[in-house]
This record gives sequence, structure tokens and C-alpha cells, in this order.
Amino acid sequence: MARTAFELAAPGRVIFGAGVSAQAASAASALGAKCALVVTGRSAERSEGLRKGLTIASVAYSIPSEPTMAMVDDGRQLARDRHCDLVIAFGGGSAIDAGKAIAALAGNPGALTDYMEVVGQGRPLPRPGLPCIAIPTTAGTGAEVTKNSVLTSPEANVKASLRSPHLLPLVSLVDPDLLAETPPAITAATGLDALSHLVESFVSLRANPFTMALGREGMARIARSLRPAYQQGLTPERREDLALASLFGGLCLANAGLGAVHGFAAPLGGMWHAPHGAVCAALLPAVMRANVSALKARASQDSALGRYAELDRLLAEGADAPAWVAELVGALGIQGLASLGMTARDVPLLVEKARAASSMRGNPITLTDEELGEIVAESM
Ligand SMILES: [Zn+2]
Repeated sequence: MARTAFELAAPGRVIFGAGVSAQAASAASALGAKCALVVTGRSAERSEGLRKGLTIASVAYSIPSEPTMAMVDDGRQLARDRHCDLVIAFGGGSAIDAGKAIAALAGNPGALTDYMEVVGQGRPLPRPGLPCIAIPTTAGTGAEVTKNSVLTSPEANVKASLRSPHLLPLVSLVDPDLLAETPPAITAATGLDALSHLVESFVSLRANPFTMALGREGMARIARSLRPAYQQGLTPERREDLALASLFGGLCLANAGLGAVHGFAAPLGGMWHAPHGAVCAALLPAVMRANVSALKARASQDSALGRYAELDRLLAEGADAPAWVAELVGALGIQGLASLGMTARDVPLLVEKARAASSMRGNPITLTDEELGEIVAESM
């Protein structure tokens, strides 16, 4: 039997609970900061209450879409011009990813491309950046506890990561009450992103007892709360379930990696500017099926098959987990990849780009180009 060994990376502090976002002011003061760059999503007004509550100066910076490398460059410039010594990232995954990247880059020399994976030189960030407090307002990406930011490079039409231990926020305030106003379509896409993180990390080559324990707990909460949250609304109990599942999914992906769903999501998101959660949801059932059949054909003794069998019990009460996921994805109104405008002609380029994506390295078995192409065809 293989010996167990793993390392755990997590933010300095994770504070979870209804109302904990009110602790942003005391956390900022405790860091000795004088001016915070508050990075938000599209509606900067949403952060007004947060900014008014701070006892230090602040500057707002709004991210209007999924973050691009140019937005991170501009944010670093703003932080330097206004002498910000703290970044507070407040919003969905886009705002959190942008805030983490701006904070890291603001403390380092050189250009963002020096440090980007895939589209840049991939050099390690030499120094810690500005301290970062992350406050998620959606339950999906888990970006408040991960050490990478996913950024779009418009030139390369691809999403790639800025990755470093220095990207881990110093403090993460995970407040389920912030989910109260989430529209159902966002609850669906973000919740299915969290489910994708939990499923992919659970069967990943780098899964370990720590991440698998979190994965089991997170999947149980998604299984009981995501569908009713979408169909009947976000009660306090469902908000707590989804916020915890997202947090656990983030800890799992940061410490066990992901797989083919996210291997495809990176180039797909860059080529069609599609919402990340919806893309992952469209791919998840076909990836699960392809992995199971490839494992059965080429690695029938692999422990990942046992973990797939456990998914049947965790998600589908012993029935077929990929079918359960496919049914949930449909019930939550997620459409196939063809709805993005994708056609069969796009498949070869997509397969080529997915093979090079960093997430693909965690997939439990290396899939052939033919298998990868079949996944896309099945997800259309
Ligand atoms: Zn994801």
C-alpha cells in the first residue's frame, strides 16, 4: 500500500460564519494598514457598506468582467499611485482572483507576464505581496483559499494562472449571509463549479486523506442543498451549506489539484468568454464517464475507481453518480457547449489546448486525444 504524505496550504486565518464580514475593519486595523485598495466586481456600490465600516482610508477598484491581465496591471498601478498597503478583495471569483493577483504583483518587481503560467515565463514570485483580505460574495470558486488567480490573456485567447504561495490571502472572511441576494442562475453556475472542484479533487492523482475528508463533507452539503437553493431560494441553512462546500472545494483544489473538467475550462473560457461555472457543469458528467471507462480499460486496479464508486454513494444514494450529476445540471438550467457557439470544427484545437492546461495533470488517468474529443462531443 502507498504511504500517505501531504502538505497543506491554506490562508493564515479562515473565519467562517453568518455576519463575519463585519470583521473586515478589525482585521484591516490589526494588520496596521493605512489605506486599502478594495477590489470589487461589476457593482462597486455593493462594497460601499464595507468601505464605510473601515477605520482606514480606502480606494475602490471595480472588475467589470472575468479578470484580464490588463486589469491586474492597472490595479497594481492604482495601488502604487494611491500608496495602498492592503488589498481587500470583495466579490465573486473574479474580484477575489483579481484582488489576490494585484496584491501579489504590487509587492514584486517586473511585469505580470514574467510570472504567468502558460502565457508567460512562469517564474516564481520572489517576494510576498501586499497583505490581502478575501471576502467572497458567491459560493463557487473557493478562490478565497487558493494560491492561484485565473486571468484571461486577450492576445492568447486563453485563461492561465498566476500561481504562488504568496497568492494565499492572509485572512479569508467567509460569510454565508453575503449570498442572500444571489440570483438563481448564479447560484446554479457557482454551486456546480464548487461541485466540480469537490469531484475532481476527490479522484485527483494528488488526493490525500485531508482533502478527501473535506470533499465528502462538501459533496454531502451540495447534494442536499444546491437544487432546493436554486428552485426554492437561499434559506440560511442552504447558504451555509453552499458557502462551506465552496470553501472546502477551494481547500481541496489548492491541495489536491483538479482534472480534465478544468483542463478544458481554461481554454474554453478564453476562446468563448463563457461563464466558468456553466462550462464546468456542462463538462462534468462526460469527464466522469470517460475517466471511469478509461480506468476500467487501462488501470483496473487503480484506487481512483474505488473513489468513483464512493461518489455513487455520496451523491446518488448508490446509483450512477455521472447520471445524477447530468440530471442536476439539466434541472439547474445549464446548457451544453453548443450554446456558446462551439461546433465540431473547434474540437481539435480545444483538445490540443486542454492537454497543455495545468489542471489536466491531476486527472486520475491520462486521456487520449480521441477520449478528450469524445468528452467535448458529449458535452455539446
Ligand atoms: Zn472551477
